[in-house]
This record gives sequence, C-alpha cells and structure tokens, in this order.
Amino acid sequence: MTVIDVASFAAGKWIHPTNDAARPIESAVTGEIIARAGSSELDYQAMLDHAKRVGGPALREMTFHDRARMLKAIATHLNDNRSGLYELAFTTGATLSDSKIDIDGGIGTMFVYASKGRRELPDSTTFLDGDLEQLSRSGTFVGQHICTPKLGVGIQINAFNFPVWGMLEKLAPTLLAGVPAIVKPATTTCHVTEACVRLMLDSGLLPEGSLQLITGGIGDLLERLTAQDVVSFTGSAQTALLLKSNPHLLKNAVPFIAEQDSLNSSVLGPDVTESAPEFELFVDEVVHEMTTKAGQKCTAIRRIMAPEKLVQPALDQIEARLDAIRIGNPSDKDTHMGPLISQSQRDDVMTIATQLEDEGRAVGANSGLNVHGADAAAGAFVAPMVYHCADPDSAKHIHELEAFGPISTIMPYRDLDHACQLLNRGGGSLVASVITHDPKVARHVAVGSAAWHGRIYVNDRVSMKESTGHGSPLPHMLHGGPGRAGGGEELGGIRGVMHYMQRTAIQGSPDIISAIGETWVPNSTKTPCEQHPFTKTFHELELGETLVSESREISIEDIETFAHFTGDTFYAHMNEEAAKANPFFPGRVAHGYLLLSFAAGLFVQPDPGPVLANTGLSDLNFQKPVSAGDSIRVHLTVKRKTPRNEEYGEVRWNVELTNQNDETVATYILHTMNAF
Ligand code: NAP
Repeated sequence: MTVIDVASFAAGKWIHPTNDAARPIESAVTGEIIARAGSSELDYQAMLDHAKRVGGPALREMTFHDRARMLKAIATHLNDNRSGLYELAFTTGATLSDSKIDIDGGIGTMFVYASKGRRELPDSTTFLDGDLEQLSRSGTFVGQHICTPKLGVGIQINAFNFPVWGMLEKLAPTLLAGVPAIVKPATTTCHVTEACVRLMLDSGLLPEGSLQLITGGIGDLLERLTAQDVVSFTGSAQTALLLKSNPHLLKNAVPFIAEQDSLNSSVLGPDVTESAPEFELFVDEVVHEMTTKAGQKCTAIRRIMAPEKLVQPALDQIEARLDAIRIGNPSDKDTHMGPLISQSQRDDVMTIATQLEDEGRAVGANSGLNVHGADAAAGAFVAPMVYHCADPDSAKHIHELEAFGPISTIMPYRDLDHACQLLNRGGGSLVASVITHDPKVARHVAVGSAAWHGRIYVNDRVSMKESTGHGSPLPHMLHGGPGRAGGGEELGGIRGVMHYMQRTAIQGSPDIISAIGETWVPNSTKTPCEQHPFTKTFHELELGETLVSESREISIEDIETFAHFTGDTFYAHMNEEAAKANPFFPGRVAHGYLLLSFAAGLFVQPDPGPVLANTGLSDLNFQKPVSAGDSIRVHLTVKRKTPRNEEYGEVRWNVELTNQNDETVATYILHTMNAF
C-alpha cells in the first residue's frame, strides 16, 4: 500500500514531509500506516510574514460583504466537490453519517457566516460595536466603539475528531473578520484536512496568503507570535495548558482561545413518565450521542441523570438500543458505529473505563464486541458501554474523567437542586441538555446551572422534530464553556468574528465619529440637499445629506379625524380633562402615529423613482407631546448605506421631527431600499 505524503502549504508552496520529521498516520480500521506528515523544511517565520505581508492586506482591502461573498463561493465549491473527502474520512473511522456532520456541517457553517456577514455586518471594513455614547452636555464630544481586523494571523490548532468542521468553523469567522489563517490540524486526521485545504486553494477564490496549512509539528511557531495574532486551540485540557502557559504567549499577551474537553450531561426532567414522548426522546439523544463518531465528540453525553425511579427503565431502553448498534467497517453503509481514531486512543479510553468501573456497575452492551467487515483486533474498535453509578455524590471519577469514546454513566438525582449540583460538578462543560415538557423545570435547571455551561439545550415533544440535537454546535449559537471546557467561546454568530478584531473606543466630535464609522451621527454636519433625496440613486446619496421639509400645523380636527379613522380614541387624544390629569400630557395631544403619518406626507416625493420600498422603522422615540395648534417639520438625513445585492441597497435615514420652537418632538430611523 502506498503511504500518502500529507503536505503543508507555506508561503505559497506545498512542502512535503521529510524523513527526519514525518509522523506516521494509521488507518483507524486496519491499523496500517496509510500516510505521513511533518517536515523539517517549514519556515515558520516565512509563513507568518507571508500571511501578514500578503494575506492580511488583501483581506483588509475587502469589505465584510466582499469577504462574505467569498465565503459563500468557497462553501459552494466545497459542497460541489466534497465526495472525495468522505472517502478519505473512512480511514479515520468515520461512517458516512459521521462525515456528514463533519464535512457538510463545516460547509454549512461557512454558508451561515456568509449569510450573516451580508445581513448583519456593514459593507465596510469597520464594525460599530454598540450605540453612540454622549460624552458631553451639548453633544460636541461623543464616543463610539469600533472593531477593526487584527493585523496578525489566526493560528488554528485543531483536534482530530472533526478534520473539516474543526477547521471551517474557525476559518469562516477569521476570514470574515479580514484576518489570514494558518491551520494546524491534529496529525491523525490531517490527510482529510489537507484534501479540504487543497480544494479551497485550487478554487482560486482565496486571496494569496490568506490560508496556509501546517501538517505535523508546529516547531517554534508560538514563540514568534505577537499580540496581533490569535491562537485558537481545540483539544485536550492537558495540551491547552501546555500551550497557553507558553511564557512567550503570556509575556506578549497573545490572545488564546481554548476549546477543551468537557463532561457534558443530559437530565431527564422529573415531570417525564415512561409513557411520555420525552422518555423515548431522552433515550434517543443519549444513544445518538454515545455512538455518533464512536463517542469522539467534544459535546457527547458523558453523564446521564434521571430521577431515581426512572434510572432502571431508562437503562433498560438504552441497553436495548445499544445492543442493536452495528459496529464495523465505516465504509459499509449498514454500519452504525466505526472504530476510534487509533489504537492508542482505544487504550486511553479503556484505561478510563476501568476507573469509571470503580464507581459504577457496568451494564448493557459491555459483554462483547461484534465487529462486521473489519478485523476487531487490528482496528481501534470498542463496544459502547454504560455504567450505573448509584451514589453520584460520593463518586469522583465520573465527574472528572473524560473517556473520549462511546462511554457514559447513568446516575440518579433526588430533586432539581441535586441535579444542578451534579451538573455543576463537571467543572464547566460545553453543553447540558434537559429533556422536559415543563417550563418550570427548564427554568430551574437553566438558572441553577447556566453559569457552568456554554449551552443549555432543552428538548420536548414540541421541538423534537426540528431540534438539531444535544451534540450539534450551531454557527448561530455560542460554542465553548467555562472551567475545564477551556473558558473559550467560538461561533455565536457575529460574536465569533469579534475574536479576530480589536475593539477600540473612539472619542471625538460628531463629524470625526461620522467619518471614522462611515455612519452619520447626530450633531455632525448636515448638507442641505439641492435635489429631493428620493430622486437620487443609492450611489448618488451622500451621508449627511439632509432634506428639511415644510411645516404643517396640527388641528383638533386632524386629531379627531385620525382617532375615528383608525379607531384609536384613547383618552389622551379625546378627553381634555382625563388627558390633563395624566402626568405626561398638558391636555389632549396628537397621536404619535398621526405625527409619523404626517411626517411621511411632508418628506416623500410621490413619483416613481429610485426609492423602491420603505422596509421598516426603528429606534422610535416620542420626546415631547404635540397639541392642536403646534406645527411640525421633518429633518431627513442620510445616515448609513448598505448594498444588499447587485441592484439595490438599504438606506437608513435619521428622521427628526421638530415643533415651531425647534424643539425635537420625535426621532426615528427610517429604512428604505434604493435602486443603484
Ligand atoms: P490533543 O491531543 O490535545 O491535540 C489537539 C491539537 O493540539 C492537535 O492538533 C495536536 O497536534 C496539537 N498538539 C498537541 N500537542 C502539541 C504541542 N506540544 N504543540 C503544538 N501542538 C500540539 O487533542 P485531540 O486528541 O486531538 O482531541 C481530543 C480532545 O479534544 C478531547 O479531549 C476532546 O474533548 C477535545 N475536543 C474539544 C472540542 C471543543 O470544541 N471543546 C472539540 C473537539 C475535541 P498533533 O495531533 O500533531 O499532536
């Protein structure tokens, strides 16, 4: 059998393994050496320089929207060419459905970031974090937090279990932020990562220098990093500790995000009976989590908690379901569960299993290992195992040891406070699930244990058909957890992008803040428009361009007509005495919605033109009542422009309504879609 040379991609060149540095990669199924990776010819400084001198500037030239479009194109390319990746992944022990989680899940994550980048980030190179802060009495000195891309490299060190998702879930937010990446996959599965990197590079969609790959060791790479770089690590707590305590990283305050191991749990609610749909759902989730990827998932359920009286019925069901799991060659379509990644991983898992057995009785499918289509001894196969720990309070190992395989322990809890205590004894985990149909139970557990968990997943008969599963990190939601889970956060939508950007507080005059943030802010210069802004195309409109309308007097007849026409005869508009008694009003006042409607009548330009639609209104504030006899005027200012597609973009307008004394009576942001 030919041994595959798994290359690195450094400073624009593929570097092949060298005999002095190459590490062997074995097939999880046969134990044979199938590949090797690692080279002594890698020049780590040249890689960093290439990323910083070539990749970073190219990415920073692009706006968030350009980068989001690039991510979408890469995800589409991977999606169209992913079949070869499944083939390679069989050698890692992954079945086709395991690989779909890894490969399709990774591509899906990239698609989500592409879409969020277009919808939630501006078509700009800076991101405004939060609202404008007023820092002075008359508003001539204001503040705004902005985020700009770090001027370094995202160093991504990944675990073996997700060779594709593990890379793409970090790469998508990094590239969207405008930061180049150097990816270092775990050696045991780096041949799959390398194939995926080749697909991305061959697509020609990435700017030069934005993606490099190290297969094998990282040499002294960490010693060369600066505070502008970010290390994003996934793996065991032991390796995380070793790497993050590197004195050079500490001395230079190099950001280090750690996603470590985790003793995730699932709790069956006390409201659930054996005949309730939630009971079967609980068993399904537990068995699925134990056997998917042969339990080698950072989010897999390691501790199963049930009310005392339901422990035995749950165990019986779990045992029956595990007995039906067909273990074997992952490339066989009837196989439910393949082997672990390697013989040494199997040894580690079995050693921990022995320790767990000290505290719990082994039950269920522990009796034998029946492997189909492969040699049970040559491959890294293990049978799924459940332990029953009757006294979880005195136990220690079950709350401390992670067996990274198809192994879990079931334990009873007395009441919900006890369940929370047990959950929290995991010392910080990625996810806890609660299977309950009772919102009070869900709230009790969420309040009692959220501080120790990165994610709480609640499932019941209502959400079970559409829910995504205890173990699936979603790009929209945070992935990470406190304590032993590493204290890191990944994903979580745009939050994940911010790890690769620097947040800076900018202080200055309104004009300065408008220019830096590419968003007009109140009290900055308004340019009177010579032509009605609704007659201008998206590209013709300029920030700060302002239309000041005619004024319109509000009469008592207007208020009454509006009240009867809409049915809004609230006393503040119709009953002078009752309105006066109200602390907010001087007497009968105009409806806020009447003011909005009259405002539209004052600022619109009625003819067909570049304004395609009014898509919304936000941040509405009524600041001063308007009585009959008062008049209003509108100040309409172009605040921000965001292209949406090839034909039109969104314009946000600052709208201010003033009265005859130039006092502000209402403000809001109007959203329109304008043709290019
Ligand atoms: P690992 O042994 O800690 O390795 C993780 C990564 O660190 C690999 O890329 C590895 O590369 C690298 N590495 C190890 N020693 C290093 C060193 N001295 N210098 C530089 N890099 C080094 O973990 P694993 O066995 O791959 O993964 C299993 C663990 O990851 C489990 O504990 C699991 O819970 C955890 N995990 C957590 C998450 C999460 O999101 N929280 C996700 C998946 C897995 P080599 O392979 O080349 O040594």
